[in-house]
Amino acid sequence: MSEPSPPTAPRPDLRDLTREELRTFVATLGEPSFRGDQIFRWLWKRGARSFDAMTDLPPALRAKLATTAAIGSVEAARIDVSGDGTRKFLVRLSDLRDVESVLIPEGDRMTLCISSQVGCALACQFCATGTMGLLRNLTPSEIAGQVLLAHEELLARPHGGHPDRDRPITNLVYMGMGEPLHNYDNVLASLRILTDEQGLGYPPRRITVSTVGLVPQMSALGEAIAVNLAVSLHAPNDDVRGSIMPINRKWPMAALLAACREFPLGTRRRITFEYVLLAGVNDQLAHAEELAHALEGLRCKVNLIPWNEHAGAAFTRPTMVAVRAFEQRLMLLGVDTTVRTTRGRDIDAACGQLALSNRGATRA
Ligand code: SAH
Repeated sequence: MSEPSPPTAPRPDLRDLTREELRTFVATLGEPSFRGDQIFRWLWKRGARSFDAMTDLPPALRAKLATTAAIGSVEAARIDVSGDGTRKFLVRLSDLRDVESVLIPEGDRMTLCISSQVGCALACQFCATGTMGLLRNLTPSEIAGQVLLAHEELLARPHGGHPDRDRPITNLVYMGMGEPLHNYDNVLASLRILTDEQGLGYPPRRITVSTVGLVPQMSALGEAIAVNLAVSLHAPNDDVRGSIMPINRKWPMAALLAACREFPLGTRRRITFEYVLLAGVNDQLAHAEELAHALEGLRCKVNLIPWNEHAGAAFTRPTMVAVRAFEQRLMLLGVDTTVRTTRGRDIDAACGQLALSNRGATRA
């Protein structure tokens, strides 16, 4: 009987690599490292889908790459357009799993909200993605590839039926499916790729990473790269936070807020605290007062998000009167506060509505 042949190692996806790593990779093939820069530009600036397209590389190198490496890409399995111009991408991964990205025109901005995991392990009680559990991490290629996909869509259909909304992407937010800091290494690699000036060149100040508050990873991120940080606080004290966010047992508010105080903020930046308003749970004026007190001395703003309903949880969205009263009380106490306008609700693209397991038969 012949020996079973050893499994062949999968070819590395060159879109997983930062430019520095690509320079090292080509050096292992005996090539000068500037070839790594060239390949990086082809992958991220020009959206090349094959090594053949990289016409300024020597043909022998193109041939070698074609047998030793791969170019990963994600595809749009479906794009839904909301009445408000928001576009939701059902992003198909190579193993046929899906995640979602959301492209949101707002004033002068065009914000792309991207996913970092298939599902999520954190199980926040009010979040639809939290009901899925964690299926897997996205690779750097899959995270940053969502941006390429949105660029392609904007080239093909610049305004998506909304002529006044024709503009390039100005901001990136890691607020889609998953907990970015639970997939720290791949998220950081994707940030290095997306901010590289030889690629898409997004300035770090235009990028926001949102987290439930994984304290060690928050500090690491702050030292690694100057992107903005948003923290999903959602409560003024441990009792309320612990009842809706299991992570609060591991990293209670004192540890979380201490990490926020130590987070290295640049000259202009401040931390954003997200606060989902759940009627009767965390939306009382006494909560606003306790919150203002907890945030004293922090360079921050609070972004209130009236809860977006979904089938997976039985909370109630507060009335706009209650939302405004909460906002006013925080403002009165000196906390800079905004209310996040709900976008794309008609296509289930709003915050916390991204989930795939409870997608009905008509939606798949
Ligand atoms: N895991 C990260 C990234 C998700 S960002 C984080 O938790 O920060 C999405 C934001 O929407 C988070 O602040 C999240 O708590 C909030 N959210 C989740 N479900 C929501 C819902 N149903 N309505 C409104 N906001 C929700």
